[in-house]
Amino acid sequence: MNDVPPEQILWYTVDTDRAVEVLKSDRQTGLMPEQIARRQAQYGPNELQDMGGRSSWAILIDQFKNIMLIMLIAVAIISGVLDLLDFRAKTIPGDIPFKDTVAILAIVILNGILGYVQESRAEKALAALKSLSSPRVRVIRDGKTSEIAAEALVPGDLMLLETGGQVAADGRLLEAFNLQVREAALTGESQAVTKQPQICLPEDTAIGDRVNLVFQGTEVVQGRGTVLVTNTGMQTELGKIATMLQTVETEPTPLQQRMDQLSQALVTGSLILVAIVVAGGLILSGWQNFRDLLEVSLSMAVAVVPEGLPAVITVTLALGTQRMVRRHALIRKLPAVETLGSVTHICSDKTGTLTQNKMVVQAVHPITGSFRVSGDGYAPEGEFYSVETSSKSTDRPITVQDHPDLHLLLLACALCNDAALQKEKGDWMILGDPTEGALLTVAGKAGLQRDQCAFQLPRVAEIPFTSERKRMSVVVERMKAESSRTTIIPQLIIPHSSSPSSLILFCKGSPELILEHCQYMQRGDRIEPLQSAQRDRILSHNNQLASCGLRVLGMAYKPLETLPSEMGEDEAEQDLVWLGLVDMLDAPRSEVQEAVARCRTAGIHPIMITGDHQLTACAIAEALGIAKTGDEILTGRDLEKASPTELEAHVDRVCVYARVAPEHKLRIVQALQRRRNIVAMTGDGVNDAPALKQADIGIAMGITGTDVSKEASDMVLLDDNFATIVAAVEEGRVVYTNIRRFIKYILGSNIGEVLTIAASPLLVASGGVPLTPLQILWMNLVTDGLPALALAVEPAEPNVMKRPPHDPSESIFARGLGAYILRIGVVLSIITIALMVWGYNYTLTTYGVEDQRWKTMVFTTLCLSQMGHAMAIRSNSRMTIELNPLSNPFLLVAVGLTTMLQLLLVYVEPLRNFFGTHYLTPMELAVCLGFSVLLFTWIELEKLVMRFLFKRKIED
Ligand code: ADP
Ligand code: MG
Repeated sequence: MNDVPPEQILWYTVDTDRAVEVLKSDRQTGLMPEQIARRQAQYGPNELQDMGGRSSWAILIDQFKNIMLIMLIAVAIISGVLDLLDFRAKTIPGDIPFKDTVAILAIVILNGILGYVQESRAEKALAALKSLSSPRVRVIRDGKTSEIAAEALVPGDLMLLETGGQVAADGRLLEAFNLQVREAALTGESQAVTKQPQICLPEDTAIGDRVNLVFQGTEVVQGRGTVLVTNTGMQTELGKIATMLQTVETEPTPLQQRMDQLSQALVTGSLILVAIVVAGGLILSGWQNFRDLLEVSLSMAVAVVPEGLPAVITVTLALGTQRMVRRHALIRKLPAVETLGSVTHICSDKTGTLTQNKMVVQAVHPITGSFRVSGDGYAPEGEFYSVETSSKSTDRPITVQDHPDLHLLLLACALCNDAALQKEKGDWMILGDPTEGALLTVAGKAGLQRDQCAFQLPRVAEIPFTSERKRMSVVVERMKAESSRTTIIPQLIIPHSSSPSSLILFCKGSPELILEHCQYMQRGDRIEPLQSAQRDRILSHNNQLASCGLRVLGMAYKPLETLPSEMGEDEAEQDLVWLGLVDMLDAPRSEVQEAVARCRTAGIHPIMITGDHQLTACAIAEALGIAKTGDEILTGRDLEKASPTELEAHVDRVCVYARVAPEHKLRIVQALQRRRNIVAMTGDGVNDAPALKQADIGIAMGITGTDVSKEASDMVLLDDNFATIVAAVEEGRVVYTNIRRFIKYILGSNIGEVLTIAASPLLVASGGVPLTPLQILWMNLVTDGLPALALAVEPAEPNVMKRPPHDPSESIFARGLGAYILRIGVVLSIITIALMVWGYNYTLTTYGVEDQRWKTMVFTTLCLSQMGHAMAIRSNSRMTIELNPLSNPFLLVAVGLTTMLQLLLVYVEPLRNFFGTHYLTPMELAVCLGFSVLLFTWIELEKLVMRFLFKRKIED
């Protein structure tokens, strides 16, 4: 049979039988374990080779595109030229020529490499995050349906496709039900293609027309299918063009963009400053001071620019994503880290996010009475009890077979179902939708196993469930031979039983809707017309169940003449026979109530959006604290009637939206956004994608979400839990607060440096510039940089979730940040200038004009002051003594380390030569220390004064 190697077969030209044969697979059982192992060894994992993200070179080159670094390079060159002139004039023994130039260039390169390392790590971290959300697929292997990682697929596997899934490998379709696939990733065509397994195509068929194949990376927008995997990994059509894909999204965050603007502004500002100083100096004193002026201005230029800042921001954001993933929130787009902190509304699905999504059927209600169901979880073990008030024997289980209508209702549960029940390690689990899992379980309790039922009544057609239709139907065929034998299938009593039809349609969905489509009802073993009084009774029963927070489904059936594809969906679902209601409990998640309360104190509005009944929604919303009794509820129908402006008027008050379809979600987001809110919105289905894209934070479900929704999202909830969203918001706020904190810290110091340098020519006549560009770089990168990194991991302050969200469009300098930087910069410079004046006169009188140790005192004081600043800035409202010093051990280490490094610069001879510092006596060092403590004291006093003035703690 192996005349043609499988790799060379054009799969769209062969029929399904031949394809199965070539790949030595089996339509029913799939591959056997030993085949799988062999093929995994032969073909390797089903993954695209890593072409991820920017190339290393691109990342490295990007580092040097930074305007701050370009300016530093210019400074290096100018100071090199100055050195060259000096070198010609006089050679000072022991002096290293071009020291500053070399050192600055070394720092530029080092900074570039550091930035490169940070960014590559951040990029890798994001790539790792992405693989965490790598898709899983359902396959048939060894006769069993199971879920495996997409990487484990091999040619010959039977892969099951369902709505919303991403196709994980190339394959030949064996079966398809209404299967529509969007192949934009491959063909660029956004219109979905309807797939047809039966046909064979000619060899010259273009890729977009190969309707009997599916391709990796494409999306199932509707329907189901079974696929024989033919190619995996790099052998797939997508693999052949894989270079364009797998990009990790590292778009700059709004803050990073604004920081880029800021650094440009600072560079421009510093160039203007240089021009002013040089020009002013020239006008005042002429050319003979040009050299000094140039030195002053170079130092100022270096001092203004916060060289260390971009790296610290990158690291902080990356650390933020890591903390979030530890709390089960997976960030897909970096800007989300920041935006999360400003979220004002969280719109959440009910089922699975606010509730546990562990459905258990409580009772079934055919026309003739209600039956309570016992048993826990998904185990199909339990009994049915009649809850008829008239009956006295409520504690004795009934026999389902004695109640034909109940039996038929349960059969509908088993057949109109796409889920599967499995026993794994003694636990019963479901594969698929929990709502359907619950129905399988209850049918199983009556001895109706899906597989057995489906064997006797095989499915021939289906109309799938969508959140818009809120119902689903299947058509099964009665085996003629089977019907005479005694089987587990009840003898169906169907009108026109004389007709040759052996097709039956089962339908389930939202009770109101199903009931609208019913003309008859099943009472016992008879079919009766459905009177309007009975209709009302069923509806009020439905409302009564829903208002207890139960999820209620309606069931119906009818015999069919022809398959629905030939007669149209709507027609098929008309004139149904009503079977009854099934109610199931989906308990609220226990941790959600507290998370909702945290939202409230944090000024965030939690909103429930659900396809479920308004009364069910309301009951659960009240239990969770999302809504109060009597709150306004909007339904999908209300939304349809309301104009955008009307909706806008309501949107601030409504906390619960019920019976909505995915397209309504989009309208809700838009209305909220027009009211200038920042909206986070959850979603799981294919049709949720537009709303997820529109929302400021689109959140996909990690467990139940479709690949399509994940692709559209900014964040994925690994545990599908509402509480995780709130945790992510908290982390987002912490990240934003910390970024603001070290911006204050770094820029405050820069202003201090600039003012000190600017003051020196005025105050210390002919003393020269107190700080060389090299020393300033050292401060900006090392002695400011290390503590800033430590401040980036400062734990949350107690009030992060006790204040309203901030407007994300606010300036970086908003809420007092700009004022703080100026104020602290001025205080720092006053302290340093005071020290400088004292130190200069002291040096002059003690050591003489030639001695320059006052410069080292200025340098040391600036550095040590910043250590105090770092300690004090940990909290804006609490005094440092009120904080636990060990809650940020990194800061202690950073401050200790930096102080030590600074001392090494003063006390180690070679370093002293290199950095141009001088030896300080212990007394002189003590003076520096004394001055340095002043800044810390000032900040602490500020906090105290603010506390007394405003009788409240300052906001962070
Ligand atoms: P949500 O996920 O917000 O609870 P859905 O859109 O999933 O809402 O469901 C909306 C309604 O559709 C449900 O209240 C139920 O009546 C019906 N429904 C849900 N799942 C199914 C299903 N698998 N088959 C048929 N009907 C369903
Ligand atoms: Mg749902």
